[in-house]
Amino acid sequence: MKIEGLKVLVTGGAGFIGSHLVDRLVDASCQVIVLDNLSTGKLENIAHHLTPNGKVRLVKADIRNVELVNQLVKDCQVVFHEAAVVGVKRYVENPIDVIEVNVLGTHNILEAARKHDVERLILASTSEVYGKNIKAPLSEGDDRVLGPTYIDRWCYSTSKALDEHLVIGYHRRYGLKPVILRYFNVYGPRQECSAYGGVVSRFIAQALTGRDLTVFGDGKQTRCFTYIEDIVEGTIRAAEVDEAIGKILNLGSTNETKIIDLAHLVIKLAGVEGKVKPIYIPYEKFYGRWYEDLPRRVPDVSEASKILGFSSKTNLVEGLRETIEWYKRNFNRLSEITL
Ligand code: UDP
Repeated sequence: MKIEGLKVLVTGGAGFIGSHLVDRLVDASCQVIVLDNLSTGKLENIAHHLTPNGKVRLVKADIRNVELVNQLVKDCQVVFHEAAVVGVKRYVENPIDVIEVNVLGTHNILEAARKHDVERLILASTSEVYGKNIKAPLSEGDDRVLGPTYIDRWCYSTSKALDEHLVIGYHRRYGLKPVILRYFNVYGPRQECSAYGGVVSRFIAQALTGRDLTVFGDGKQTRCFTYIEDIVEGTIRAAEVDEAIGKILNLGSTNETKIIDLAHLVIKLAGVEGKVKPIYIPYEKFYGRWYEDLPRRVPDVSEASKILGFSSKTNLVEGLRETIEWYKRNFNRLSEITL
């Protein structure tokens, strides 16, 4: 199936990943409905498409609204379900919202997709599903390793794993045609840089506003940072390739980076060496008591490579350069940064 010209629904389409996906879908002449409650998504991320003759329609509403979800899905051939409560600090501050939005919302989307027989449903899932399994690289069939439910951090992993179970259930029971994508530490322009944002956007915002970079823990923990364009490409391919139906696929870079090295790299690329420095902050000070970190998380992308032809093409230096340039041009977004 080619995505060109199709009618698509993007939940969370005004958010970081969703809005980049919308850009790409508009380029492919799709008619796009964006369903977003703008709780963390931003109108300015898609404002350039909201012209009178534009191909994008924004519906400002919550994915928990059963009736509305039903109506919107009815008109679409493909659903990209990107809406979720995301951001590690949110998991420890508001686990109830995380679970309600991510699980109940996804259930609504799936019910509507089943009723209206959509041609493809893409679930944006996450590497967080693996929890603290330190096996490297992580393959889609690997175990989930989670801490106790006292630790709020695991609520996001659990909510997304439930979403995956639901999707697989709908596929097996009703013949829904889904693809589950586990994104690994996505970064790029438009990512939130507040206390709830990812480490890359936070470090860039700190560097560009003359603040020291807050490295939590000892900074030796690693992640595989994946540039947004590569994620968008993989997500579109997932909707197009028939062999992906019913599969779970990792999408991520395989380049493992220590957080302290990321801090030094951002300082260098932002051109602020000697002006700001990394400072070490205990986890508890930032996240409170109910947080636990993951020492490492590396994807095995051989399935996505085989099925989708996916590879993470953008190296970290290139991706960081693009992102830093974007923040420099969109200085207003840096006002989100606090600590
Ligand atoms: N982190 C950090 N400083 C920050 C934000 C995050 O050192 O200002 C660390 C965080 O503790 C974790 C890693 O960076 O070890 C990645 O955090 P992020 O919230 O981006 O995503 P995660 O991979 O934990 O879901």
